[in-house]
Amino acid sequence: MNKKDFPIFKNNPNLVYLDSGATSQKPQSVIDRLKKYYEYENANVHRGIYELSENATQEYEKTRNIVKEFINANSEKEIIFTGGTTDSINFVAYSWLLRNVTKGDTVLSTQMEHHSNLVPWQQICKMRTDVNFDLIKVRDNFKLDLSDIQNKIKKFKPILFSFTHVSNVLGTINPVKKIIEIVKKHSPDTRILLDSAQGIPHLPVDVQDLGVDFVAFSGHKVYGPTGIGVLWAKEEILVKEMIPFRYGGGMIRVVNSDDSIWAEIPEKYEAGTPNIADAIGLGEALKYVSEVGYKKIIKHENEIKEYAYARLKEIPELTLFGPDILKNRQGVFSFDLEGVHSHDIAQILADEGVAVRAGHHCCQVLMKSVLDVQATTRASIGIYNDEDDIDKLIRALKKVIGIFK
Ligand SMILES: *Cc1c(COP(=O)(O)O)cnc(C)c1O
Repeated sequence: MNKKDFPIFKNNPNLVYLDSGATSQKPQSVIDRLKKYYEYENANVHRGIYELSENATQEYEKTRNIVKEFINANSEKEIIFTGGTTDSINFVAYSWLLRNVTKGDTVLSTQMEHHSNLVPWQQICKMRTDVNFDLIKVRDNFKLDLSDIQNKIKKFKPILFSFTHVSNVLGTINPVKKIIEIVKKHSPDTRILLDSAQGIPHLPVDVQDLGVDFVAFSGHKVYGPTGIGVLWAKEEILVKEMIPFRYGGGMIRVVNSDDSIWAEIPEKYEAGTPNIADAIGLGEALKYVSEVGYKKIIKHENEIKEYAYARLKEIPELTLFGPDILKNRQGVFSFDLEGVHSHDIAQILADEGVAVRAGHHCCQVLMKSVLDVQATTRASIGIYNDEDDIDKLIRALKKVIGIFK
């Protein structure tokens, strides 16, 4: 489905791309939009009074509105453009957590987090000796331990609980609403951050319906450009609980030699010249996703996921990680082939034109504490994958087994 919308496949006819968990390919419309911006519209935003600059500002701000509609935010003022998920989470760590954390507080995350949703919290907590950092356990079925969530939320009443929408290693789709219900029931003041880097490319996100406080995601995993991402936060939090952690042009109202006054949100949190082109490109990517529609995306990805799962399960030498109940997992397949290093697997697959990822996938805690492996090989799907891609993966894996067994 939709492979023809992605020129990378025309330009690399033998490419079997199964690494969308690392980054997605870009549809022609996104590439064209970037080109058009630089060829016809390039100017800095929010400053010039000439037409080109006014137009660039308008397009940039229009994108904010596209994002707002896409995630059903209350206001476009709640949309802060960042460099990506990592940047969005560091932003919350410095602008919100560091400002609000007090003696005896706990920050809670989980064992299945990507480093970018674990290390920032860990390091902020380490800056202070009186703040506790704790992780929710992952069960043997590769799902978050909901009773551990309940116990730790009750016990610690954490200032923040930050967790992922979908695991980038296991494919586990976390029951976000159920988790939020547990948190709110036992500790209504706990702020909740959802890392939707692996969620939003595959599943709709309605921030009001979920009842979260912060959502972070990256443009490049949702068919948009690299270097752009989104932090959504409730207006009240942006206004009352946060201070900027980046200072400079664009975010100020008045600067005196001894002090300054900030602009209103969202500008207050976007210091310096923003990534205008890529923001506009992200807007185009979200338009693309909307036009295809999540209904169709989910249906197609489910078919490929079910097919891939069945085919991978047929290989006896292969240990597949992640939930066996397919409705609880995304099309992300991490596996181990006994006695073969994941880099060797990925290398042989690469020789066959199959692009997968090998290593710890930025999840060393999950590797060490839960899976008890150094590394895995991961195949992850996007909307352009088809059964033929999976057949080629399986064929290449059989070749690996032939070489090493
Ligand atoms: C990729 C990823 C991130 C980090 O995203 P960047 O675009 O590298 O900043 C965070 N969390 C998850 C679950 C991811 O998959």
